[in-house]
Amino acid sequence: MLYRLRTDFRLSIITLLGASAVLGITPFAVMRFIQGNVLAGIVDSSILLGISGAVAYAWMTGDTRRSGLFCAVVACSGAVAVGIVVGEPGLFWLYPCLVTTFFLASPRVAVFLNIASVFALMIHGDAFRSDVQMWSFASTAFVVSACAYVFAHRNHDQRERLEHLATIDPLTGIKNRRSMDQELDLAAANAERTGLPYALVLLDIDHFKRINDEHGHGVGDDVLTDLVALLKQNTRKSDQLFRYGGEEFVLLLPGVDGIGLRAVMNNLQQVLRKYMKHPGGSVTSSFGVALLRHGESVESWLARADAALYEAKETGRDRIVFADFHEAPEPAADAV
Ligand code: GH3
Ligand code: MG
Ligand code: MG
Repeated sequence: MLYRLRTDFRLSIITLLGASAVLGITPFAVMRFIQGNVLAGIVDSSILLGISGAVAYAWMTGDTRRSGLFCAVVACSGAVAVGIVVGEPGLFWLYPCLVTTFFLASPRVAVFLNIASVFALMIHGDAFRSDVQMWSFASTAFVVSACAYVFAHRNHDQRERLEHLATIDPLTGIKNRRSMDQELDLAAANAERTGLPYALVLLDIDHFKRINDEHGHGVGDDVLTDLVALLKQNTRKSDQLFRYGGEEFVLLLPGVDGIGLRAVMNNLQQVLRKYMKHPGGSVTSSFGVALLRHGESVESWLARADAALYEAKETGRDRIVFADFHEAPEPAADAV
């Protein structure tokens, strides 16, 4: 639970809004019923119900986009209703709503909600003691909204930048091991649900250290970026490539098994053999391939691909080894 709150920003905002609404509005809802103001009590209770429902929905489904939007609409329309029913004291409830809309919904929707809420109260007019008070309210609502917009926008930018730094390998521009862990978990869950076959390829450049030692780190870096460009050009859009670390890469291939997988791998090997070069000659790679078994864990899947890669290295490099040989069809002449 704490992990979800820490990693899902919108869920944490929805939960915070829910908790604040329950703590802040419940006493007023009770007080209004006690004082006989049934209409105001019903408005408060409806807001509480709406926001609590949205929080529960967000936790159960993970769909924070829809529940955030719903929360923003309930909060703003609720604050307007309170302003209309209760009058001047009810106006203050709109301020926290004007701020949270930018964290719950897209900027465009938030701007629309904020403007519509302030206009609705101004058009109704009864909540204000004078025109001066009404225009003061409109001006302060505008300032609060503008500040919230700038803050939410900067916050969003920084979160995206951090996300990029945490998940993308800076040299090659592809996803790193951290993203790979998440994608492999998703793939395993999807395979379990739909039965779609998934193949995992561990690729390791042969004698890469020699390239660095003999031609310099810069040439080594160029080899890595050339390899990534070639792999991207020669795989499908649905295939995913990750940098596993150093000169090791992982390819996740959905929807391919058996003969198709062998053809894909042979083709990839031929392309790399033909085009991967460095100033001292050609660059070869070794491959360990494993098909996800029914009900298998990601750790075991990776371990089998790793063992296959190890075997490829041990038996001479520049070759493809399929984990659990009986799963794959007959090997081609140039592969083990
Ligand atoms: P093998 O055929 O057994 O895989 O041998 P290898 O030399 O490829 O493997 P080894 O693990 O001995 O060396 C990997 C080298 O990759 C060592 C490390 O300095 C280099 N390396 C790791 N990351 C980078 C990088 O980002 N850029 C460059 N240029 N080199 C890197
Ligand atoms: Mg290597
Ligand atoms: Mg290696």
